Order: sequence, then C-alpha cells, then structure tokens
Amino acid sequence: MIRAVLFDVDDTLVDTRGAFRYALTSVAAAYLNAAPSADEITLTWRTDAGGHYRAHTRGELSHREQRKRRANELHAIYGGPELDDDAYDAWNRDFEQAFQDGWRAHPDAVPCLDALEAAGTAVGALSNAAFAYQEQKLAACGLSRVPMLVGVDTLGFGKPDPRVFALGAERLGFAPEEIAYVGDELDIDAVAAAQAGMRGIWLDRTGDGSVGHPADVIRVTSLTDLAAATTI
Ligand SMILES: [Mg+2]
Repeated sequence: MIRAVLFDVDDTLVDTRGAFRYALTSVAAAYLNAAPSADEITLTWRTDAGGHYRAHTRGELSHREQRKRRANELHAIYGGPELDDDAYDAWNRDFEQAFQDGWRAHPDAVPCLDALEAAGTAVGALSNAAFAYQEQKLAACGLSRVPMLVGVDTLGFGKPDPRVFALGAERLGFAPEEIAYVGDELDIDAVAAAQAGMRGIWLDRTGDGSVGHPADVIRVTSLTDLAAATTI
C-alpha cells in the first residue's frame, strides 16, 4: 500500500521548462547574433548535448562550471561571445534573475497535493538540484508544504543513484515499497525509483505514449492522474 509520495521538483511540481524559456529568451536578446525561436533555444539548452548537468549530478562538475559550459555551447551554436569567468558571472546574473522571475508551479500541483493530503498521504521532495535552492524555489511557487528531503548536494551526487532514494525514504519515514516516486524523466526518475524498491511513476506531460517504458513503471500525463495511480 502506498502511504507516501516523493516528488521530483523541476518539471514535475514546478514549470521549470517555462522558467528556462523565459531566461533563455532574455539572455538571447542580449548576447546572441542569431535569433533562434524560444522553443528551439529551450530545446537546445535542455538537451544539454555535452551532458554537463548529468556530470554535475554525478559529482563531477560544480553547478557553476556545468552552467558556464552550457552557456558557452549556446553561444558557439548561435553566435555569441565566448564567456570567460567575469563575463560568465555577468551573464549568469541576468540569466538567474530572469529564471527566478519565471518560477511557477504547474497548475495541477496544488490540487494534487490537496488530494493526497485529504487521503492522508505523506509528501516530500527529492531533487537533482541543490537543497537550499530547491527549498527557495518551492517557497516562491507557493509549494513550501512539500518538505525538501534530499538534494544533489546532500550526498554529493544525485539520481539515479539508489542511495539517494534510500535516504529520501528514510527521511520520509516509510519503507521504499510504501512510497510512490513521481518525476518527469523516465530513466533517472521512474525507472531509478522502481529499481530502488519504490513505485516508479513517470510524469509524461508532453508525450503521446509512443515511447515505451518498463512494465514496473506507471505512466501518467498529469499530476491530476497521480492520486489514482497511488491507489492501484
Ligand atoms: Mg525533473
């Protein structure tokens, strides 16, 4: 029986994609010669072809270094200046301000939390970003009722490492098999949670279901469907 739900933060509870889109549009206007569409530049950023964010979640790159590399890759593709340390700091001030201005909860987050609370289901958050930063983000989005439990800096590495999920379960106070974990990334969220003994739920907000997933992972397309999925 599921007694608790652990949430991923970015693109699960919070519309981080929208915030990145806003921030990238802002820096593109200031720095880039080419004029990629907001969709294109957001896709390029999120695809992170160099794998820098995942290197960060493995403990191999600092947050600053991964973002600086991604900024310079963006500039190389779309015709912006190469950023040295000082230029990057200025770039990141603009980017970070716009990013934080863009933080919003997904509209289905609060109704989902209300439904879980009504059912007596405990909740918490586990994220591959820094703990204090995610607490700040949740509060800015009106979601401080969801306690942050584990960030990428808690153990020095993040999902999909099973130790991250084990610590989340311990801090939530339930056994892994009593917990459903929901996140938007199939591999590092749902599959990794299932491998850690939890019910892995893949939040596929934009997909059409044509991408397959393992049988032990449940696919939902919104948080509205989550409460039902935790009672299966
Ligand atoms: Mg996410």
